[in-house]
Amino acid sequence: MVATKAFGRSSEDKRKREFERLEALEQLDFLDTPRDDGFDRIVRLIKLFFTVEIGLVSLVDSHRQWYKACDGLSADEVPRQDSFCRYVVDEEEAMVVQDTTRDPRFMQHPSVTGDSHIRFYAGVPLKTRDGHILGTVCAIDRHPKSFSARDLAILQELAGAAMDRIELLQSAATDSLTEALTRRAFKQEADQFISLALRHQHDLSCIVLDIDHFKNVNDTHGHAAGDDALKAVASVCKASLRAGDLFGRLGGEEFSILLPHADRERAIAVAEKLRMAICSQSIIGSYGALNVTASFGISTLSIVSKDIETLLAQADAAMYHAKHSGRNRCVAWSSMPANHTVGTRRRVLKAGSILFNERRSTMDCTIKSLGVDSAGLSVSNSVGLPPEFTLAIKGENFETLCKIIAQDRQNVEVAFKL
Ligand code: GH3
Ligand code: MG
Ligand code: MG
Repeated sequence: MVATKAFGRSSEDKRKREFERLEALEQLDFLDTPRDDGFDRIVRLIKLFFTVEIGLVSLVDSHRQWYKACDGLSADEVPRQDSFCRYVVDEEEAMVVQDTTRDPRFMQHPSVTGDSHIRFYAGVPLKTRDGHILGTVCAIDRHPKSFSARDLAILQELAGAAMDRIELLQSAATDSLTEALTRRAFKQEADQFISLALRHQHDLSCIVLDIDHFKNVNDTHGHAAGDDALKAVASVCKASLRAGDLFGRLGGEEFSILLPHADRERAIAVAEKLRMAICSQSIIGSYGALNVTASFGISTLSIVSKDIETLLAQADAAMYHAKHSGRNRCVAWSSMPANHTVGTRRRVLKAGSILFNERRSTMDCTIKSLGVDSAGLSVSNSVGLPPEFTLAIKGENFETLCKIIAQDRQNVEVAFKL
């Protein structure tokens, strides 16, 4: 007989399921992708159907719950251990809590006792055809509520619609807001360019750019102004690039460029030209005129970086270095200080722990890229991390002392202290 519920599984079995679940999530490559109207519609439907204040479509990785769409909450994500949805993911089944103040699991939870005042929760799994739980679709309210079997069936149908949309978007080549290639399409096309460059031994470079303080644009001028800024930055880039170059949107306000036939110096010149064009352009709308800047990271095909994941990870690390050194600037991977110029890194999605304060403090993280002497980590909030700490990969018997080489609020680049 096949056990279908997580309930009753051994902890070894659960660890294996979680490992496979994270692999499915990595394969999907859907975390941190841009906002999408289809998912926004689903959360609006949740609010209308169930007359609740909050609707969510979320993905849950090893350390955080990330909102693909959210109406009624201001954050983009929460630490996994603080989320109600982790029970849905861990137990692999729907959960309805009609009154959180009467449920021993939640009655002491800060979002119940504090200002958020959460009283009602109904969440169903977002499940792939292979049975892996990627995240949740849920209805949340600030008053206790009853939720019928029919209500649950409707929420499950909405989760099915969300899953269908995820599958549909996997086949889209361009992003609807900016018309840039989607992250998936960019990487697929980039792989072909890289094969050609390696076969014919010609140069190739990669650029990652991220708009500076973009959250302020949304907060100050509204989401529509933010969208205008994204479109304006994308069109400036496309206008400056050559027909044979690739231009993609990696996530919210992060873009990638692949320059075939460009060596490091040429790629730096292209990035510098784009940087100037972006910061000298005024974006005009009903909110008045606004200007944005962007930070750039550049990487170049070499003996240690000959696949798109490595090139993106290196350009990304250089881009964080640009952020760290003041923003609105370009940094090339190979011109970072010597202990930053580390070898090949693969993009991974592994559950990690950061240990510090003589191992008395721990912080969960997702290891997003990993090499023999460095790694790129994603955390819920990097504030409070010491400059050096121990990094452990859960379930892999891997532990090493690290030093931070670049960081922003949610990303930390580390070099291993070998
Ligand atoms: P930094 O200079 O360090 O990059 O700061 P930042 O504010 O740009 O970075 P952060 O990652 O804190 O904020 C990115 C913001 O981008 C938050 C998110 O709501 C917004 N965003 C993501 N996708 C979209 C979108 O499609 N449209 C709009 N308007 N905003 C978006
Ligand atoms: Mg930014
Ligand atoms: Mg960003």
